[in-house]
Amino acid sequence: MAAIFVALPYRRHRGLRWHSVVNPSPISRHLSGWHFTRLKSGWAAIAAPTVAVHHPTHNPGVSIADIHLRLVLAAMAGPAATPREDQTAAVAALVEQQARVLVVQATGWGKSAVYWAATSALRAQGKGPTLIVSPLLALMRDQVSAAARAGLRAATVNSTNLADWDAVFEDIASDVLDVLLVSPERLGNAGFARRLPGLLASTGLVVIDEAHCISDWGFDFRPDYQRLAKTLLGIGAATPVLATTATANSRVTQDIARQLGPQTQTFRGSLARSSLRLAVVPGLSALQRYAWVGDALSVFEGSGIVYALTVAETERLASFLRGCGFEVAAYHGGQDSAVRQGIEDALRRNALKAVVATSALGMGYDKPDLAFCIHVGSPASPVAYYQQVGRAGRALDDAVAVLLPAETDEQIWAYFATAGVPDPQRVGKIIAALGPAPQSLLALENATTIRRGRLEGLLKILAVDEVVQRQGTAWALTGTPWIFDAARWRALAEVREREAGLMRAFAAGRGCLMRFLQQALDDPEPADCGRCSVCTGRLPGPGARPGAARTEAARVFARGQDVLIEPRKLWPSGGTRKGRIAACSEGRALAFADDPGWADALGPLFNAPDGPAPAPVLEGLVGVLGRWRRNWGERPVAVAMVPSALHPQLIESVALHLATVGRLSWVDALQLTGPTPDADLASAARVAALRQVLALRPGVVVPAGPVLLIDARYRSGWTMTVAAALLREAGATAVLPLVLHQRP
Ligand SMILES: [Zn+2]
Repeated sequence: MAAIFVALPYRRHRGLRWHSVVNPSPISRHLSGWHFTRLKSGWAAIAAPTVAVHHPTHNPGVSIADIHLRLVLAAMAGPAATPREDQTAAVAALVEQQARVLVVQATGWGKSAVYWAATSALRAQGKGPTLIVSPLLALMRDQVSAAARAGLRAATVNSTNLADWDAVFEDIASDVLDVLLVSPERLGNAGFARRLPGLLASTGLVVIDEAHCISDWGFDFRPDYQRLAKTLLGIGAATPVLATTATANSRVTQDIARQLGPQTQTFRGSLARSSLRLAVVPGLSALQRYAWVGDALSVFEGSGIVYALTVAETERLASFLRGCGFEVAAYHGGQDSAVRQGIEDALRRNALKAVVATSALGMGYDKPDLAFCIHVGSPASPVAYYQQVGRAGRALDDAVAVLLPAETDEQIWAYFATAGVPDPQRVGKIIAALGPAPQSLLALENATTIRRGRLEGLLKILAVDEVVQRQGTAWALTGTPWIFDAARWRALAEVREREAGLMRAFAAGRGCLMRFLQQALDDPEPADCGRCSVCTGRLPGPGARPGAARTEAARVFARGQDVLIEPRKLWPSGGTRKGRIAACSEGRALAFADDPGWADALGPLFNAPDGPAPAPVLEGLVGVLGRWRRNWGERPVAVAMVPSALHPQLIESVALHLATVGRLSWVDALQLTGPTPDADLASAARVAALRQVLALRPGVVVPAGPVLLIDARYRSGWTMTVAAALLREAGATAVLPLVLHQRP
């Protein structure tokens, strides 16, 4: 046999190199004129001996794109994998035309093969490494190992591996790295920002993964990510750019294409997923939803994800399911990355039946045999829903995706929808405070009296518009004027409203659920699936209602949970009071957030006109005290209440009932002397305002012992803290806070 030419992926050299090999090892497959053979370093494509390949570009029948795609696919999915037409076209556009390319294709289509193949081809041409921006750490870890399978050397710089950065950048300088993955928050890091121009100068290909995140029409818009993308898109026309997403409707697709530039080539395919069996189970109460999940886990095969809308809900539902005997874990953005990685790995090897997660788990999480996906509460848009259920069943013939909509969903959507919109009045305050000189976050908080969380959110929005920038630990104006784009925000609000309407219609199940999602994503070929609960009239798992025993177990669980209130420890900086607070002891709440045990009782109570507390709420509070007394140290001697402008009868009925049942004295010690301050004030301003309006009643005698202090709702904790401080100054030896509802 004559010498033939093969392309070999070499780890320590640039991507693929052409080598002549005499008598290669036995050829295992024959694919349309190409042979694949396993060599020590992985799979190699070998031109059939009848085709004289001296250099790939000299052979008109075979494109570079095709060769590299076949190599990458063979390495990742085995030699039987064949490139799709659009994959080849996308790689060719990147490699041969240095084009800007947008790929919108369903999960599992093989978007990553496009950028691994393009990287492989460009490296073989001597181009620099590929720079991939990726919005999630979970995704980046999966991508590093996927790149290795494709024969490429990849590394990542992100917030969890600062110590590795120098080594990574040395590898780039010595050209041994094929792929660098970065997370969007890196742009805020001065060290990374300094290195970025040099990095961009040597980059061979820029990839923006999960590109719907850079469109403010997308369901998962991320300002950090858009800022990084903007910088990367400023790269010269000679460098190809690829953006990919599985979840973009026409509007989002057009927006991303616009950002990429006028010559963008878009590859868009059908988004239907034939392995997914979609279902909606409407009309369940909060407790029934918990019970439904419990029943479902006992009958569903394999492992899956249970999505909840809030962090509190993930913890609570996971705790209930563990109590039912299932191996489950809660997963959310508040956990540190090592914990999350451990949970991802455990789910991947099916050591967990399910992970109860917020949307923090999803995009790009790679578990091809994920068997089910249950949503407890509905995401805010069909696109978000499609994105999350898209994780399931990628390598299975059958996977179940069930939505259990909740009546509180719309409030949660509304909260997240308005959280991202800047309020011109507050922005004006921030700009005025930054006018003279850069300010620390604390100084800004005190100068503007805007609550910390909201302040940080606004600064982020202003940073994307390049109105402000970080200078070390301080914030400063850039000189770019801020213009409130009322039309843009109004249009965005309309889009959110339309999406909410679509989600309502989806939950109502008036037509095939898969067709509905396809239409919502502007899929060019929507069709009835014949598999969903609307097409078949059948519901998976426990069906329309969970078992009575499991529902009772959920009720007992939810009402038996201790909700702890952590006392405030320090007075806010910048106020008149300083240092440690010796006011409150640890407290208790009857319910936290959308507590399934109490949502049905408390929701109407707070929304209706003021009146005395109903019997179940009083009994629940007595239950809380019954559990609390085992570890509260010294028994309270009296009950007092935080005066309430909104719910005076409610609070008084609770205080009197607990005083009677506990045989405690009732002290009406505190009064309001003016309107209560805005809950959105920054801490120092709020404490100052509370001290103006909250006072001891003249002549009141507070007993010298522990006092139980009742309030209706608890959020920042400052009202309770100021009230407790007053009681302590008047002689109480301890103050034990007890509230009906703690808000997140
Ligand atoms: Zn259907």
